Amino acid sequence: MNRIRLLPEQVANQIAAGEVVERPASVVKELVENSLDAQAGRLTVEIHAGGRSLIRVTDDGTGMSRDDALLCLERHATSKIQRAEDLSAISTMGFRGEALPSIASVSRFTLTTREREPAAAEGTEIIVNGGKIGAVKTCGSAPGTSIEVRQLFFNLPARRKFMRTEETESAHIQHYLTLAALAYPGVALDFIKDGRMVWQLPAVRHEDRLAALRERWRGLRGGETNLLAVEFTGQLPVVREEGEGLEGEVETAPSQPLRVWGLIGAPGVSRNSRAEQNVFVNRRPVENRGINYALLEGCHTMLMKDRYPVCCLFLEVNPAEVDVNIHPAKREVKFHRERAVRQLLAQAVRETLLNYHTPVKPAPPRPVAEITPPAPLPEPHPEFPKLAPLPDLPAITAPSTPVAVEPPPPSSIRNPQSAIRNPPPPTAAPLLQVPLRLIGVVGRLYVVLESDRGMVLLDQHAAHERVLFEQMMRRLEENATAPSQRLLLPETMELPVRDAQFLREQLATLARLGVGLSEFGERTFLLDALPPFVKTNDPRQFVLSLVDELKAAGQAVNTLRLGEHTVAKTVCRHSVKANDPLARPELENLIEDLRHCAMPYTCPHGRPTLIEMNFRELEKKFGRTQ
Ligand code: ADP
Ligand code: MG
Repeated sequence: MNRIRLLPEQVANQIAAGEVVERPASVVKELVENSLDAQAGRLTVEIHAGGRSLIRVTDDGTGMSRDDALLCLERHATSKIQRAEDLSAISTMGFRGEALPSIASVSRFTLTTREREPAAAEGTEIIVNGGKIGAVKTCGSAPGTSIEVRQLFFNLPARRKFMRTEETESAHIQHYLTLAALAYPGVALDFIKDGRMVWQLPAVRHEDRLAALRERWRGLRGGETNLLAVEFTGQLPVVREEGEGLEGEVETAPSQPLRVWGLIGAPGVSRNSRAEQNVFVNRRPVENRGINYALLEGCHTMLMKDRYPVCCLFLEVNPAEVDVNIHPAKREVKFHRERAVRQLLAQAVRETLLNYHTPVKPAPPRPVAEITPPAPLPEPHPEFPKLAPLPDLPAITAPSTPVAVEPPPPSSIRNPQSAIRNPPPPTAAPLLQVPLRLIGVVGRLYVVLESDRGMVLLDQHAAHERVLFEQMMRRLEENATAPSQRLLLPETMELPVRDAQFLREQLATLARLGVGLSEFGERTFLLDALPPFVKTNDPRQFVLSLVDELKAAGQAVNTLRLGEHTVAKTVCRHSVKANDPLARPELENLIEDLRHCAMPYTCPHGRPTLIEMNFRELEKKFGRTQ
């Protein structure tokens, strides 16, 4: 008995819709992509009830002839590719020819279109209900295309149930529209939600695409985010990556350029989710684990745990290098040279962030120990805990430390009004490149400074960690061994088997950082030296918590061999203690040391070392402006 039958087209379309049309935002995405592919200069997106009752996308693009309008509703009907080979050189958003028939099969669908060139005398309107064509008429309409999708999933109750609240569905739509708006600043975009205008973004006409992107970002976000420009070109090397090709066979591919450009938050600017991490490959918004990883790697030691960069980055690469056809909604992509792309992206991010601050030319190096608080302060400050300004303030501007603490330009400090009237532009000079004046310390930890732009707070603990970390890393790079102080009484410690095994793998790195640990039996270790800056009364505890933290870090990065930087970072954390009262010269030294750092704005764990509150923000807080 023959059991196999071809599915009716309507059923096939509904099945395809299951993949392509996940939720209202998928409809918006497909329609907007079509409008962008049709060279639209202006787009209007309207939704009602989170897109559940209505989605309407109107463009002024090429429009379609009557025949094309009928054809575009057929499965696998597309004007964008013709041959299989075209798949490796896709420059449009769409290519699968699936979206319109899928959407039309699960909604009440109206397509109105009029060809722009050659200018058609009239337009065509096609009404489709759950995949069945209801009417085809001529109509008057503006050149371009308008597609209306009402009652999504009206004929699929099971799918309808899966839609979330209106707010959630609107949020997904708005998120996609943000991505489209960022990728196409030259296209005007209106977004109307439940009859209310949410955005009215004008077309940005800028020769310079970075400037255009900045302007579009401001249009979307309203506020000022401190964003740095990324401009990077690297080469994908001529190598075969692991897992590609047959064993023993060396495949090479011609070297290809990879361009990365866009904006990324300055050090210290981050979010607790990936919501503002916008990455595009050949202008297509993408999700890709490798890219996520590369971004975190690029921001290394500048992002706190569980924080994510704020960015809008465009990767440009030969379309043949990337497979965009691995996900029905084309959300994910696969790079043929994934590892190389990852490395170059991380490098692009890292170089941008590092260039933000130009370290002051190294002063004659001072030994590490010197920057730490000497245990008994030379002149005790009895009133330190409750202290505001330091007793001998005027001396701060003395020429002894001209780099660290310069006198402020008289006009702005003496007359803050002038600074208020001229707030710093969003791309103001990095903080450590403007003069800072020391005011005092609050809570024994936060150093209060003044610049000609406003107030600056420095977390002396975080700053200190950064300084130590960079000094240690420099030593490691120069292959020098860190100074180490022998303990008067070496200590032995016994560890559980697994910890012992773990610690054994880190011994060499720890030794280079000045932690003298040696094996003293199967599970026993002997601790006989510590770096001089480690101030601890309980060296045993120091080592135990070091092991715990390194293990935790190891799980997070999922590697057995921890990088030297992870070890150094952890040693720093355990070396610096908060609440050590620092005398004025030590604070000055600390600031100067910070200026010498390559990345002074965060501690090695990514927490900020400095917070700025400019006059504009102060004004706001005091209600002097709105
Ligand atoms: P794809 O975008 O993958 O080609 P779609 O089903 O989304 O498939 O669209 C089918 C075809 O309909 C497109 O290739 C295009 O020629 C045409 N089309 C769709 N939307 C528009 C539009 N807004 N303006 C002009 N042509 C359109
Ligand atoms: Mg399409």
